[in-house]
Amino acid sequence: MPDNRHLFKKYIAQASDFAPFCIDVEKGEGIYLWDKAGKKYIDFISGICVNNVGHRHPVVTKAIEEQMRKFLHVMVYGEFIQQPQLDLAAALCARLPSQLQKVFLLNSGSEAMEGAIKLARLYNHRSQIVSFSRSYHGSTMGAMSVLGDPPIRRRFDPLLPDHLLLEYNDVAQLEKITDKTCCVVAEVIQSGSGMTEATPGFMEALRRRCTQTGALLVFDEIQSGFGRTGKLFAFEHYGQVPDVLCLAKGMGGGMPIGAFVSSPELMSLLDNEHPLMGHASTFGGHPLSCAASLAALEIILGPQVLPLVEEKGRRIRHHLQDIPQVVSVSGKGLFLAARFQDEKLTARVQERCMANGLITFWLLFNHEALALTPPLVITDEEIDRSMDVFKRSVREASL
Ligand code: PMP
Repeated sequence: MPDNRHLFKKYIAQASDFAPFCIDVEKGEGIYLWDKAGKKYIDFISGICVNNVGHRHPVVTKAIEEQMRKFLHVMVYGEFIQQPQLDLAAALCARLPSQLQKVFLLNSGSEAMEGAIKLARLYNHRSQIVSFSRSYHGSTMGAMSVLGDPPIRRRFDPLLPDHLLLEYNDVAQLEKITDKTCCVVAEVIQSGSGMTEATPGFMEALRRRCTQTGALLVFDEIQSGFGRTGKLFAFEHYGQVPDVLCLAKGMGGGMPIGAFVSSPELMSLLDNEHPLMGHASTFGGHPLSCAASLAALEIILGPQVLPLVEEKGRRIRHHLQDIPQVVSVSGKGLFLAARFQDEKLTARVQERCMANGLITFWLLFNHEALALTPPLVITDEEIDRSMDVFKRSVREASL
């Protein structure tokens, strides 16, 4: 069998300065991936919160196949009526509050974030954009402008001007949001910093301050959405509704899709004056992705998935209590991060997990923690088996 690592490095533009694991994927099914040598892995990160219904869920692949026989791309987003887009948007709106009833379909999370920021600009024409330290909102220039890590951001300067970074969960700092603020972008649970939950008081104060000042509140639920935290969207835990909601990742059941959702009044700012010059996308809401997304949404909302997520999360937490090297666990539902004593041990645990066939992953702004975000369809028995591998890997890493 050819060793593809050389070709991978030669032809595929690299996103990391290291590519430590390079699993050469042959197949995915349920919570499992197989490499070309036949090694089986448990995907305990769901391809970074994408495969919430597992890999190649049969209902998702059936929906893709059925749509594939009808039409693929037909026209730039927003010109023709496409049934998969209608069905998906209607199903989403049926689950969202009355303030969020219009969906702009795109291809990725970064594009959704761009759309949200542009919408805010059109709404109040203010310049300042606020975000929080240790947050990640995407890799395009607008989304990079609100990255919560100034040294990394600076490499791409000049980005969007007039950006203000605040500390997450610091209610006092919210005073810095003023009538000069265009929008505030926030994750409801910060993934990159290690599944840091907002405190209820912070969420409430943030919503209040945005309403007082006329700044739009944009929630980035690109990772936390679609059942990950035990509710369809994490903001439901807090009872605070944003003005704009950004979605992607788990939305597509393994297919590429993203969206931002807002009110009909706000969204109308994008459709007047200059057709297709508000926000546009050739492939936005691709029919295959929409068909897959609706199937995934129905699976997540079914009796076997969403109602069981919190209990499964507790099961993982219970196992983690047996591991003395784990100093803390954060997150909600199956959106969890386990923190170790130091970065070196964390890296060794990840490496041992991978060797033992359990995929975990590091976090952008917290190198002491590992993400534990398995597919929501994982069974109790599969959790127990995965956590046995995790415990063994921690033991080996500690030798
Ligand atoms: N926001 C968050 C919280 C994310 O995790 C990501 C992707 N890791 C994005 C935005 C960007 O999404 P995409 O990679 O689909 O552009």
